[in-house]
Amino acid sequence: MVNKDVPAKPLIIWLGTNTCAGDMLSLLNAKDPGYQELISSIAELRFDYLLGASEGSDAINVLDDLQKNHKAAYILVVEGSIPTRSNGLYSVIGYRNGKAWTALQAVRELGAEARYVVAAGTCAAFGGIYAAAPNPSKCVSLQAVLDRKVINVPGCPINPEWMMGTLNHLIQYGEPALDDYSRPKLFYGETIHNLCQRRDYFDNSIFAAKPGEPWCMYKIGCKGPVTYADCPVRQWNGEHLSWPVKANTPCIGCASPEFSDGNVPFFEHLPDVKLPGIKVTANRVGLWTGVVTALGIGAHLMGSILTGRLAETLKKDLPGGSKLKIRPRLKKGHK
Ligand code: SF4
Repeated sequence: MVNKDVPAKPLIIWLGTNTCAGDMLSLLNAKDPGYQELISSIAELRFDYLLGASEGSDAINVLDDLQKNHKAAYILVVEGSIPTRSNGLYSVIGYRNGKAWTALQAVRELGAEARYVVAAGTCAAFGGIYAAAPNPSKCVSLQAVLDRKVINVPGCPINPEWMMGTLNHLIQYGEPALDDYSRPKLFYGETIHNLCQRRDYFDNSIFAAKPGEPWCMYKIGCKGPVTYADCPVRQWNGEHLSWPVKANTPCIGCASPEFSDGNVPFFEHLPDVKLPGIKVTANRVGLWTGVVTALGIGAHLMGSILTGRLAETLKKDLPGGSKLKIRPRLKKGHK
């Protein structure tokens, strides 16, 4: 006999806060498994702010039921940043008992009872576009308002496989290995720069001077050296067809914690910064290896200048000591 009170499949709430809806729209491009398979055989998407058929009190009652009767049985996915100004009134999920139920209240109440909490997209993970200056609604990341671990799946928007893979991992194996920013290492374990098909051009200082050219995009602002994501190998457009650099435009670092304030101007190249994780070939750094082993791109550029490999135009544009401010990583415990 089937107990109707016990869900046969894992339950998911997909809540939208301050968002453009790009992450849910991107998820619709997922394949193997696709969105249809997710909601029909893998899990039960009990609440979807964008595609759900119910509205008003019917929709809010679904959330009430999940919070009260399915504690620790659902995954809460939040898309969008959380406005905190005026007690959160800049994002209202719905009305409960005749009063506005803000996103700030909703994520705290639903998050307290969830089995896992997942931030979908850079806005939820790190604040993103909505938290950019001057940030009139005082938007913050999901983690900033929750006193529990949030699994961050950044991207503007998310690659559908980053989210589909994370959800499936949670359902089938539990929590995936996470990095210091609470991102699944499966998808964010390497820099775009180290996976890039144009890395040879970078190593040989062959740079595009404008978008549309088929060379390394570093000089015109590529943030691949400081952005952790597997875009070059996973690619986008449903069929794994392309990604920004392959489409001859620089990576703007949309999956990074610094996006977007820390990544502008998008079309100006990174200053000479220390970049942990950059692989610099020994013969490029040469005698300087012992002195600058940890300098990453700085060492590479220094080597290029000394050997005359660096394009004249890039030499002219090298910054005079300005440092890119990298947002500090999350503390242990993800508080
Ligand atoms: S700077 Fe950008 S385009 Fe150049 S190799 Fe790195 S990721 Fe690729």
